Amino acid sequence: WMSLIVAALTLVALLFILNFPEAVSRPIQEQNEAKTNFIATISHELKTPLSSIKMAGRLLEDERVGALNAEQKELVGQVTDDANRLLRITGELLHLTQAETGRIQLQINLVAPSLIVETATRAVSFQAHQKSIQIVTDVQDEDYLVYADAEKSSWVLINYLTNAIRYSREDGLVTVTVQAHDQGTVGFVVRDQGPGIDAKYLPKLFDRYFRVPGNRDQTGSGLGLAISKEFIEAQGGTVGVWSEPGYGSAFSFELPGAKT
Ligand code: ADP
Repeated sequence: WMSLIVAALTLVALLFILNFPEAVSRPIQEQNEAKTNFIATISHELKTPLSSIKMAGRLLEDERVGALNAEQKELVGQVTDDANRLLRITGELLHLTQAETGRIQLQINLVAPSLIVETATRAVSFQAHQKSIQIVTDVQDEDYLVYADAEKSSWVLINYLTNAIRYSREDGLVTVTVQAHDQGTVGFVVRDQGPGIDAKYLPKLFDRYFRVPGNRDQTGSGLGLAISKEFIEAQGGTVGVWSEPGYGSAFSFELPGAKT
């Protein structure tokens, strides 16, 4: 009897699944959505207290509330560095959840490439200064504009620049070049004199969570380049990378352009 009941129940379950496949798949989809929303909420909630920690650290570091001895300075420096690192990761997680749910909301406008470059270089000037890294910009073809979401494109450029700074030695040189291409696109390239990346890793570089084994800076999440790719492709553009181990790397993106 038991086996007959089990067989009957299995049959009913099978029929149910065959008839209503969405009843089985929907909860999984719903779970995924719940997970994504959860990550988005947590990332969002973490941002405010982390920003306060960073601000407080900065005030202490600048000795605005009193002099610090070398050891105290070092410790406060660690706190702000870690707060920065966590802020970067929470920001990346937020962007990732947007990309995952196909919710990249774009505001496409005709934008001057120099505006994107200026916004990005300003955003990383403090980090560059901390490592005595010089950033040189060269915006050519100024009669070209790009069809782009200014904020998202700047985010990508900031991400390329942050990587260039993080993976470079002190006193390094980072260049940003903007140039129009024959096919009507405008290319943005960030070059550094960092360690470079072995050719065998290049195809994986823009994958989520991929990090080059044994690289110099181990504080990352492996998400920045994956999000960059999603942002640029959502705008109808393409991303690229060139690298020569021992000499440096060049990360690029191209966006649809228009001559004024
Ligand atoms: P992460 O947070 O780990 O930097 P990214 O997605 O931004 O994540 O980069 C993925 C990996 O690509 C990094 O872990 C690093 O190994 C490598 N990488 C990125 N930019 C550079 C660069 N400018 N020079 C050398 N390696 C880089």
